[in-house]
Amino acid sequence: MKAVQYRGAGAAPEVVTVPRPAPGPGQVLLKVTAAGVCHSDIAVMSQPDEALGFPLPLTLGHEGAGTVAALGEGVTGLALGDSVAVYGPWGCGACLMCAQGKENYCTRAAGLGIRPPGLGAPGAIAEYLLVDDPRHLVPLGGLDPVTAVPLTDAGLTPYHAIRTSLPKLTPGSTAVVIGTGGLGHVAIQLLRALTPARVIALDVTEEKLRLARAVGAHEAVLSDPAAADRVRELTGGLGAQAVFDFVGAPPTAATAIGCAAVESDVSIVGIGGGAVAVGFGTTPYDTAVRSPYWGSRAELIEVLDLARSGVLDVHVETYALDDAPRAYADLHAGRVHGRAVILPNGR
Ligand code: NAD
Ligand code: ZN
Ligand code: ZN
Repeated sequence: MKAVQYRGAGAAPEVVTVPRPAPGPGQVLLKVTAAGVCHSDIAVMSQPDEALGFPLPLTLGHEGAGTVAALGEGVTGLALGDSVAVYGPWGCGACLMCAQGKENYCTRAAGLGIRPPGLGAPGAIAEYLLVDDPRHLVPLGGLDPVTAVPLTDAGLTPYHAIRTSLPKLTPGSTAVVIGTGGLGHVAIQLLRALTPARVIALDVTEEKLRLARAVGAHEAVLSDPAAADRVRELTGGLGAQAVFDFVGAPPTAATAIGCAAVESDVSIVGIGGGAVAVGFGTTPYDTAVRSPYWGSRAELIEVLDLARSGVLDVHVETYALDDAPRAYADLHAGRVHGRAVILPNGR
């Protein structure tokens, strides 16, 4: 089968031919209908090979959806042809975190060598994907896999971050979204669907801000060193009750804390190496700063249910499997609006 692999040392992803996997006991083989392209993959491909913590080559793709193509021995509850989304942050299934569905915070995965597909295990940008356990599959229930597949990360990650901050997002409050790409453009819609907060979006080009407005941002502001002051102006000097930084670089982390209100939540979701210093007199009184990772199995079910209710409009740009390397180049160059989605088996 064809797969798109990162083969090491900063090389561009390549389309290669690898053996089609067969499901062992308890495993499920999916024929991939859609696979999303996340900016985290670019971060992975920018690291020295030794820093990765897993061997190369790596089949990319940690947002996956597919139809059940084969069931390993003992798997029940799924039928051939079922259309499913993949819960990506695979854990051990048994620790205290996993028992709560929070496999993203599994305490044993690293020790057991369990890695998410596309981030250590073979990923979804391939004709077929091997899933280690049926508990990592959620039925799509009529959702279009192409627009639903980004919800497994670009939807789930902001959903998890926002859900924690819901108590702060009361009527009259303000939420700031920094970076309105794959994750950010879904975050704006989640905030609009789940909260009465006024949403202020920040990005670096007018084109990106246009998408932010189109998906529901009340205000869209260019992200520059003056952006935090602009947010303060727009909030009568108070700042925002929740700030979600989907860039996480040093300048955006500074903006994030710079526009935070007293008793606010600041979530650094992007992995751009930014950090926030926390201390008395440094941060607004009682502000909490967190760095969430992906989301729980229950939250993925909730995000897909929310999509089924019709309130999410995920913008996708689709590519054939052979064009996946171009999708990564486009994402790197800032040319993707919404999420790039690969269709490994055509439409
Ligand atoms: P993306 O490329 O689709 O979107 C990033 C957006 O940020 C783009 O619209 C870009 O124009 C904008 N941007 C860049 N610099 C900016 C700046 N200085 N100010 C404001 N906006 C700026 O990326 P994505 O796939 O949405 O991922 C976003 C970030 O989240 C990445 O760092 C990714 O690695 C990370 N991520 C983290 C988690 C997690 O669990 N914590 C999960 C998924 C992705
Ligand atoms: Zn991701
Ligand atoms: Zn676990």
